[in-house]
Amino acid sequence: MKVVLASHNQKKMVEMKAILSQMGVEVLSQAEVGMDLEPEETGTTFEENARIKAQAVMQATGLPAIADDSGLMVDALGGDPGVYSARYGGPGLDTGRWKLLLKNMAGESNRACKFVSVICCAFPDGGEVMARGECPGILAQGPSGDGGFGYDPIFYLPQLGKTMAQLTPAEKNQISHRARALAGFQKEWERQRHGTDQ
Ligand code: IMP
Repeated sequence: MKVVLASHNQKKMVEMKAILSQMGVEVLSQAEVGMDLEPEETGTTFEENARIKAQAVMQATGLPAIADDSGLMVDALGGDPGVYSARYGGPGLDTGRWKLLLKNMAGESNRACKFVSVICCAFPDGGEVMARGECPGILAQGPSGDGGFGYDPIFYLPQLGKTMAQLTPAEKNQISHRARALAGFQKEWERQRHGTDQ
């Protein structure tokens, strides 16, 4: 089966291709099918946004399409920045986003947080496979490490004594929200396919 990946992010593309190819799925980029869509993320949950992106690409290409939506949820901020993680603080902030988050959390003792990832595949027949993965952590007082991306330098994993940015890509892939969502996605995909193959 061929599916189109809605994401333009090379790192996500590589991670997803690795897992999906084990499932006998051929992953095509939007470029490979002559598409360049960037649907607006108008949802208020990760599930809604993943579905919006997957459906837009599925409808435009006529092929099954996979999208993911992810972000960081901080307990003391009522789950913010959440679905707005990529836009937290406005456009053009880039690495400044985690600095702003630390500033907004100054003096706060409850530093529990989690990374969340939702992966959704929308099929032309109206079917859908969706899975969510979470990775709990603690918001550090300051940055450590230079690996990863986004909020990784301030996302502390107490069981490892390191931030996400201090892990190798392979170590991050063992525990990350995205890896967990992909594992759940694979299970759900196989459950649905097994069901229809009977
Ligand atoms: P989107 O899923 O492409 O909409 O972006 C989600 C945003 O959440 C990213 O821009 C990052 O700021 C943040 N984020 C998601 N996953 C990670 C991660 O693994 N490490 C650090 N930040 C992440």
